[in-house]
Amino acid sequence: MAGTDGDGVYMGTGKRNDKSRDRDGWRGRVHPSGRKTGSRIGYAIRVELLLLLALGCVAITRELTGSWEGQAGTGEESLWVSDNGEAVEVTADGNYIKWVEFNVTCEAMAAAYDLDVESYEKDVHLNWIELLAYEGAKTGGKFDKNSVKKINEAAQKLADGETTMEDLTKDMEYYDYYLEAYTAVLGGMVGEFSLKEENRWNRYYGLKAFSPIAKGFDYSHYDDFGASRSYGYSRPHLGHDMMGQVGTPIICIESGVVEALGWNQYGGWRIGIRSFDGSRYYYYAHLRQNYPYAEGLEEGSVVTAGDVIGYMGHTGYSTKENVNNIKTVHLHWGLQLIFDESQKEGNNEIWVDCYELTKFLYRNRSEAAKIGDTKEWRRTREMADPEVEKHCKKDTSMIQ
Ligand SMILES: [Zn+2]
Repeated sequence: MAGTDGDGVYMGTGKRNDKSRDRDGWRGRVHPSGRKTGSRIGYAIRVELLLLLALGCVAITRELTGSWEGQAGTGEESLWVSDNGEAVEVTADGNYIKWVEFNVTCEAMAAAYDLDVESYEKDVHLNWIELLAYEGAKTGGKFDKNSVKKINEAAQKLADGETTMEDLTKDMEYYDYYLEAYTAVLGGMVGEFSLKEENRWNRYYGLKAFSPIAKGFDYSHYDDFGASRSYGYSRPHLGHDMMGQVGTPIICIESGVVEALGWNQYGGWRIGIRSFDGSRYYYYAHLRQNYPYAEGLEEGSVVTAGDVIGYMGHTGYSTKENVNNIKTVHLHWGLQLIFDESQKEGNNEIWVDCYELTKFLYRNRSEAAKIGDTKEWRRTREMADPEVEKHCKKDTSMIQ
């Protein structure tokens, strides 16, 4: 439970780019997209026990990059072996993904995204998530400087009709896993939407998710995912910090429903927004003392990507409400993936590194304007997200 709101300010103790194990020992789990089921439960438990014992006396931080092993031979077990040979990945019970690492670079996302948008309404519409999953499945989820080139080469073959994605991936053991994992991260970000421009609505296809910081407001950030935090209990940093000024308008990244709003001893004034498909939970924390939220926002509110939802501050680290106990003013935002509701709170939470994603989202910043003499800001350009309309229609029909 605490992990959900586990956050801390950058206090200089964390190591950049270090990924830490979770609070009860590193127990990363992967399920390759339901291909493997219950037969390995016993094995999984044994391996986990051994791992837990072993991890009790090894270093806290470790790189979580690695590669797949074990599909050779019987094809029974699926293991994830880290680069330094320590972390072993196992499947567990249940037919859903247990662990995801999101190491896609901003450059790879941008390249795949451009290919997707440019091919929209062409004979072969390239799907950016499929392109990324294809590359991820080839490299075990590692992305580097060559990724863009390789994505472009695959895209060229697909666009020329030389091959299809189905053909390209038919022998790739983990393509389905990466497709499902990356869809969980990026699934709601690209699509059709409308913008109100000079009093008329114009339709577009493209990025409809936004940077969490309003246009024109400065911030600084670095990859601090997994850095250690100590308030309350020792734990890794499960989100991304963006340092800026008190009162900076905080923008809703993806449309969804406000699931949590109020005080939390770790996150201070915080907002939790769930994507309509239920698979993403966006967590925005440390909002401004006295005036944290956009007017009228409450649990159950439906919000559209690009809306102002709150204001940057430094509340948190206190059981008492409305206290500024965080040293550095910043937004903490976290992205949790939920493949099964049992992963929402507890020891099975999956939080992904949002640094590269935040950089990618920089290309879409929502502009906001101050309302008169109030402390309130509102977006200047309205957007209609078909997912919002769909959700609201569904809600109405359920009431009737
Ligand atoms: Zn943070």
